[in-house]
Amino acid sequence: MTMHDLEYRQQVLDPISASFCGAKWYNATVWLGSGMTTSCHHPPAHLIDIDAVKSNPRLLHNTLEKKQDRADMQAGRRPAGCEYCWRIEDMDRDAVSDRIYKSKIYEIHHLHEAAITPPDQDINLRTLEISFDRTCQFACSYCNPAFSSTWVKDIRNHGPYRGLVSDGRNHFTHEHDHAQLFRFGEPNPYVDAFFAWWESDLHRTLAELRITGGEPLMSGYTWQLIDWFRDNPGRSQTRLAINSNLGMEFDVIKRAIDSCGGIELDIYTSNESIGPHAEYIRDGLDYGQWSMNMERIMQGGQVRALHVMCTINALCLESLPEFLTYLMLWKQQFGANFPNFTLNILRFPSFQSPLVLPAEIRDHYRGRLQSWLDRFNNNIMLHAHERHHVQRLIDYLDVVKTPHSGSFDMPNLHNDFKQFYQQYDRRRCRDFGSTFPGLKDWYNKI
Ligand code: SF4
Repeated sequence: MTMHDLEYRQQVLDPISASFCGAKWYNATVWLGSGMTTSCHHPPAHLIDIDAVKSNPRLLHNTLEKKQDRADMQAGRRPAGCEYCWRIEDMDRDAVSDRIYKSKIYEIHHLHEAAITPPDQDINLRTLEISFDRTCQFACSYCNPAFSSTWVKDIRNHGPYRGLVSDGRNHFTHEHDHAQLFRFGEPNPYVDAFFAWWESDLHRTLAELRITGGEPLMSGYTWQLIDWFRDNPGRSQTRLAINSNLGMEFDVIKRAIDSCGGIELDIYTSNESIGPHAEYIRDGLDYGQWSMNMERIMQGGQVRALHVMCTINALCLESLPEFLTYLMLWKQQFGANFPNFTLNILRFPSFQSPLVLPAEIRDHYRGRLQSWLDRFNNNIMLHAHERHHVQRLIDYLDVVKTPHSGSFDMPNLHNDFKQFYQQYDRRRCRDFGSTFPGLKDWYNKI
């Protein structure tokens, strides 16, 4: 954390209120397949009124729940759904949570406008993340059938995961039909509302539109939108961002990049470990193909930036420092934004959190991360937010003892860890012990 972030909180956000966050007004994630939304990735998603959006597409974002949260934030009360930020801030009164990072991206006068806008008023978004559907060829361990059609097949073919007792249990016990209410081509009022809003306002007012999935490059609606950009050159200044697992032939990625030739394009991808670790955690991934696609995107020079989102879970810490070193080598070759990275600490399902690891293993990983940071701290390719994220993870591994306030006690989390990975190994033909030798003794004793 630098004084810069803390000063921002003290000088910009605190005078508005002690809990104000610009994301509650100007940012949304909307899952059009299920009709759910949230403000950023942290608060639990909630349902959008399917009838209301037919006459007012702005209600894709301006739900009653968000309007209540805005009223709370204007009054300095903490919305319960934003617990992720409150836990970081409660570690230390000077701690910088995502509330600061997610507010900083907006102009200060827009934040002041939000602060005095009646909370029940509809707001035009500035940054939006949408998912059209859950079609995906991966089934990552920390994902579930709500976000991946391959996870749906896992449950359909092998039945529910058994013996889980903690908060993650329901992720892995059924096919989550609620997450995909409509098939591609069937009338979907949420998708219709999005394209109606896009045509009327969003293509002018949005600074950034980010498409996520599933794997968005497998969704027909994504290509409908990409084709809109190709067929309407110069009509929108919106920057486009695509979250892709990059687990496909490069030709597909290239076609998307070429179609967006007239606009700024960012590509986001996920990974947090190397080789067999990555292929175990992100089941479906071919690490060699992923690395090759990363390099070809960077060599092509057509995208504004390439971002790697690391989901920090119990299994990635073994090779996270090596992975981050690879990212630094790429930066050295292609520039500081090729790639950028963020470290996002997994909280759900809590049995996959890094905090389930015993103290001595956690301390060992914390020490290795500290050595990594000591080595790269002054490297000019390391962005300030990247340095903060590494430091934040080091502090988190040291200070925070439970994944979230409602998480179960450690014996239950350990039970679920073992139960889950034993069944995961059988279904995916994998082997925990040989993939993670550093965790094997502890795992075998659970
Ligand atoms: S969780 Fe944090 S960053 Fe997200 S909307 Fe709430 S306060 Fe903002």
